[in-house]
Amino acid sequence: MLQRKEYKFWFCTGSQDLYGEEVLQHVAAHSREIVEELNRSGVLPYEVVWKPVLITNQLIRQTFNEANEDPFCAGVITWMHTFSPAKSWILGLQEYRKPLLHLHTQYNEEIPYDSIDMDFMNENQAAHGDREYGHIVSRMRIERKVVVGYWKDPVVREKIASWMRTAVGVVESSHIRVMRVADNMRNVAVTEGDKVEAQIKFGWEVDAYPVNSIAERVHEVSDADVNCLLEEYYSKYNMILDGRDPEEFRQHVAVQARIELGFERFLEENHYQAIVTHFGDLGALQQLPGLAIQRLMEKGYGFGAEGDWKVAAMVRLMKIMTEGKKDAKGTSMMEDYTYNLVRGKEGILEAHMLEICPSIADGPISVRVAPLSMGDREDPARLVFTSKEGRGIAVSLVDLGNRFRLIINDVECKKTERPMPMLPVATNYWTPYPDLYTGAEAWILAGGAHHTAFTYDLTAEQMVEWAELVGIEAVCIDEHTTIPAFKKELRLGEVFYR
Ligand code: MN
Repeated sequence: MLQRKEYKFWFCTGSQDLYGEEVLQHVAAHSREIVEELNRSGVLPYEVVWKPVLITNQLIRQTFNEANEDPFCAGVITWMHTFSPAKSWILGLQEYRKPLLHLHTQYNEEIPYDSIDMDFMNENQAAHGDREYGHIVSRMRIERKVVVGYWKDPVVREKIASWMRTAVGVVESSHIRVMRVADNMRNVAVTEGDKVEAQIKFGWEVDAYPVNSIAERVHEVSDADVNCLLEEYYSKYNMILDGRDPEEFRQHVAVQARIELGFERFLEENHYQAIVTHFGDLGALQQLPGLAIQRLMEKGYGFGAEGDWKVAAMVRLMKIMTEGKKDAKGTSMMEDYTYNLVRGKEGILEAHMLEICPSIADGPISVRVAPLSMGDREDPARLVFTSKEGRGIAVSLVDLGNRFRLIINDVECKKTERPMPMLPVATNYWTPYPDLYTGAEAWILAGGAHHTAFTYDLTAEQMVEWAELVGIEAVCIDEHTTIPAFKKELRLGEVFYR
């Protein structure tokens, strides 16, 4: 489902014809070598494509417009090897619409003390040319990433790799289509939002369908297909019967297998990559989709509960941004549920009624069937597990009435002190940075929701840069957060993002 699009990034080197043909040949050769080495490093998630050295207004403008037009180009990396008068860049930059990275590097690592002369200086003056170029980008108020350092430095390469994922998030955001088979839960505020503004800002298309249109597709799934998927479930997961009759248990699980297949077919046929459901609006569905939604999320679909389309789109977005990441630990919808307030052991138990993505699971995954205690349907089957340890981010996109705000909290995922055998849902457990008290206070002051999009595989920096590129406010809660400074930041946001 989450097919990797073969995005590429263009590498554009700036220069001018003042230094003669030989210098321009060196500039071309050096930038080619940098591109080849970056691709060979294995660090970058996407390929870099070398472009001929840009020295004229006309060529710069043409190249940026070609980048706009190419559906596989997710961004342009620029670097001024020599001096490149920045007025030549104005028209190209003005017309360019994709993410921009300014790689402030230099071909040579060390000053060649014994041989350096003025010819060398003129050929290797990124310190000079990149400032001229940077000035015009700032003057034009264009959002871009600046990465500084030697191009062979692993830290520099990691920064480029990280930005590439943000850039793909920006480009792919406008391909996200969320299917709503239920409205937002009645009277709930934080899951609401302006869908028109979301399409303007992020490119998301959010469409409503009657729940029975998808329920019909579920009922059309053949018994043979259901049995085949059930075999997969039974071979993959531990079945915990909790005293239920094995046949009755199997029938409950079969309902979820049928939902998984029916939902997936409907989403594929209608080109949706994210879905919301609502436990109170299930139409002809026999159970709240639990196991079915969990497996769809694992396949790359976004999901939001109780009609929460913002979370569904964010989960999808973050799954795209982490796609193909080596040793990825997972991305899921999450909900803040219950605290542990014991001094020194503070944390938040994260879960949902059912719908947590098994990509974040640590160890074996079980299937259980239990009452929902809400709604009016039969006991749904769900995947039950605990989650991986380590650092992650919880992300909430809220609509403040006049604008969107993205709230990002660094969290440390842990094991709970003891198992919770009576709790029949998947869980995560984390302590927010800088500590539970400051983290939760800042989250509440910022208006953060109880539903979040969570991942181990992105950094706050990547999400902030995504927000900057789509033009919305972002606030981070991390180890440096203090409440007085955070309050000041929120007040500044009120002025800046008006
Ligand atoms: Mn919920």
